[in-house]
Amino acid sequence: MKIRDMNWMQVEEYLKKDDRAVLPIGSTEQHAQLSLCVDHILSERVALEAAEPLEVPVFPGVPYGITPYFMAYPGTISLTADTYARLIRDILDSLAAHGFRRIVLVNGHGGNAPVQALIDEWSGTHAGVTVKFHNWWKAPATWKKVMEIDPVASHASWMENFPFTRLDDVHYPETQKPMLDAAHIRELSPVEARRYLGDGNFGGRYQRSDQDMLAVWRTGVEETRRVIAEDWP
Ligand SMILES: [Zn+2]
Repeated sequence: MKIRDMNWMQVEEYLKKDDRAVLPIGSTEQHAQLSLCVDHILSERVALEAAEPLEVPVFPGVPYGITPYFMAYPGTISLTADTYARLIRDILDSLAAHGFRRIVLVNGHGGNAPVQALIDEWSGTHAGVTVKFHNWWKAPATWKKVMEIDPVASHASWMENFPFTRLDDVHYPETQKPMLDAAHIRELSPVEARRYLGDGNFGGRYQRSDQDMLAVWRTGVEETRRVIAEDWP
């Protein structure tokens, strides 16, 4: 259920029978030839499809994340870790205030990893509320599926090239870009990182068949659904 399709009375009713909520978080950052909003589009969409049959509300995705290393690529928006922590904390506080007790953050962006530490800290002062942090694309089943299809996969490569993240009238190279060193990028300034990365793909082919992509997508949706549905205290 999309929160945008609900009013407050419906949320009040929902909270009488369930206390789960989903918050997608992503980023707006360079993804080579793909949309700048890949991580936002995918985290929100996987959350919505996963939550749909469970009838759990999905809040609007947070479209911005922490991505200082891509700031030499136009269109990238980076929040400082401090701003981001405050933002996520305020959203969690609001959800908890209304009575949501089981919250899943569906994350689509590797740079948002500090949120895990924030959740640990927040949970220490919010007994009775459980927050799960789910990195949907690298969760075990989804990552296994990606590796089965093509182990040379990374940021802005084929594994993020879905029918809903690729742009019309854009040329996707036929080559397989050699894998770059993702850890090395953290040691570079934004300008050096752009020089090192070129178009922004970290390594791998640029596009694969829709059949391959659908297989990854289905696995991601099902795995995210299990996280929303199962293993709560
Ligand atoms: Zn991405």
